[in-house]
Amino acid sequence: MKLNISDTFNSQLPSDPNTENTRRKVFEAMYSYVKPKVPSNPQLIHYSLEMVKAIGLDGNDTDSQDFLKVFSGSNVCPETKPYAMAYAGHQFGSWAGQLGDGRAINLFEVEHNQKRWALQLKGAGETPYSRQGDGLAVLRSSIREYLCSEAMFHLGVPTTRALSLVISGDEVLRDMLYDGNAAYETGAIVCRVAPTFIRFGNFELFAARQDYKNLKELTDYTLKYFYPELGKPSKDSYIKLFQEVAHRTLEMIIHWQRIGFVHGVMNTDNMSILGLTIDYGPYGWLEGFDFGWTPNTTDRQNKRYRYGNQPNIGLWNLLQLANALYPLVEESDPFETILKQYQTDFESKSLKMMRSKLGLIIEDKKDVHLMTDLEDCLLLSETDMTIFFRLLSGYKKGDAETGLKKVEKAFYNPTEISDAVAEQWKVWFRSYDQRLRRETLTDQERQAHMNSVNPKYVLRNYMAQLAIDEADKGNYDLIDELFNLLKKPYDEQPEYQKWFAKRPEWARHKVGCSMLSCSS
Ligand code: AMP
Ligand code: MG
Repeated sequence: MKLNISDTFNSQLPSDPNTENTRRKVFEAMYSYVKPKVPSNPQLIHYSLEMVKAIGLDGNDTDSQDFLKVFSGSNVCPETKPYAMAYAGHQFGSWAGQLGDGRAINLFEVEHNQKRWALQLKGAGETPYSRQGDGLAVLRSSIREYLCSEAMFHLGVPTTRALSLVISGDEVLRDMLYDGNAAYETGAIVCRVAPTFIRFGNFELFAARQDYKNLKELTDYTLKYFYPELGKPSKDSYIKLFQEVAHRTLEMIIHWQRIGFVHGVMNTDNMSILGLTIDYGPYGWLEGFDFGWTPNTTDRQNKRYRYGNQPNIGLWNLLQLANALYPLVEESDPFETILKQYQTDFESKSLKMMRSKLGLIIEDKKDVHLMTDLEDCLLLSETDMTIFFRLLSGYKKGDAETGLKKVEKAFYNPTEISDAVAEQWKVWFRSYDQRLRRETLTDQERQAHMNSVNPKYVLRNYMAQLAIDEADKGNYDLIDELFNLLKKPYDEQPEYQKWFAKRPEWARHKVGCSMLSCSS
C-alpha cells in the first residue's frame, strides 16, 4: 500500500508539547499527538472504492493486511504522527468551552490528483479531548455515518466522505437512551475523509482565549490550503473567507432542505469551515413533511435543530464564527453585511430550490404563494416528502382534477384525506397547472428536470436500522445493498423498487428509526 503522504496541519501548526494521552485543557496548540487504540480483532466490513481510488490506492490494496491495520488503528504508517484536533464550540446555543476530537484521530494527509485529503479514524480510542467519553464508537452509529456520508455525496450535497468501516473486535458500553440501561455493543471504526476537518469551533477556541496569535495562524493556514483564491492573509482576505464560508454553509443547508435531511446536532463544533456536512450522529430523514421534526431525542424539548430551523441555525452559527474572526479584522460592518446577505440569499435560494423541485424554470416572484400553499397542503395529513416530490414529476399538464391521484401513495393514512382536504389539494393542483402552462418544457422534459433534484431513494431512518439489525447478526449484505442503491439516488433502479416505500409502521416510534440520541 503506497500513499502519497503530505502532512500540513501537524507539520506547520503548533502542537501540544505534552504527548501523554491524559484528558486535559490544551493551550496555545492546535492539536495533540495521540496514537489510535490497537483493536483486539479488527475486521473490514466495507469500503468505498471511490474513496480508495481518490486517495491513490486501488481495489487490491483493500485486501492487504496493511490496509486493515492502518484503517483500524492497529498500525501507524511510517513517518506519520496521528493527532487529535483542539476545538471549542457552542452546543445547543450555549458556550461549551474546549471540546476537541474526543473520539477522532487524524492519521495523515495525502495528495492525489491535485487533491488533498485528510484521513481520520472515528472511534479509535481516547484522546486528551475525550472528557468523560471513552473515545469509541459503536457499530450502529458507524454504519449510519458510513452509509449516510457516501449517500449524501451522491445526492450532490457537500459532505465529508467515508473510506472504510471496520469492526474493532472490542465491546463498547452505551446507554443508548440515557435511561440507565447501559449495554455492551459492538465497537467499530470509520475512516472518514475530507480536505480538512477544521470546524467553526477551532477558531472559537482561540478567540475565546484571546489567543490571537494562534487564531491568525489557523486562519492563515485555512486560507493558504483551502481558499488560496482569496489572496494572501489580510483583513480583506479574512472578510472574504467569512463571506465564502457563509455562502457555502447556506448552499449546504439549502441542499439539506431540498432532500429532507435533518442534521440533528448543528453545534458550532459540527460546522465545517469548508461548508461540508460533518459529524453524522442523530441525523434523520424527513418522512412525513414537517418543519418541526427533529430525530434527536436530546433536543426533544426545544427542537432547536428541527428541519425548519436549520437555515436560521446556520446563520446563528455563522454569527459565532464572525465573533471569532472579528479580532483579526476589528470592524463589524463587513461581517454584518455578510450576515444580512445570508438572509436575503436564503429567501432567493430557497425559492429557486423549490422551483426546481416543482419543475419550474421561469422565475416569478409570485411563486412564493404556490410554495406556501403547497407546504400547507403537505401538512394536511402525514405526507412522505421524498415520495410526494418524486411522484409529482409524473404530473401531466391539464390533469389538475386528478392530480391528487398521482401522488396519493405519498399519504401515510389515506383515510385522513377527507373531502375538504382533497378540495384544498385540488385548488393547489389547479394553480400548479396554470403555472405550468407558462413554462415551455414538455411534461417529459419537466419530469427529467424534477427527477434530477428530487431523489427517488434516500437513506430512510428505518433502512439504516435494518442494515444495523442485520449487521448485529453478522450479516453485512444489506450495508452493501444500501451502499450501492444510494450511489444513484436519482435513478429509477427498478431492481430496488422496494426501497421506494414509505416508512413501515413498525418503525414509526422505534429507537434508531425516529428516535436517536447523541449516544453513539
Ligand atoms: P458530537 O456532538 O458527537 O459531535 O460530540 C461533541 C463532542 O463530544 C466532541 O468533542 C466529541 O469528540 C465528543 N465525544 C462524543 N462522543 C465521545 C466519546 N464516545 N468519547 C469521547 N468523546 C466523545
Ligand atoms: Mg462533533
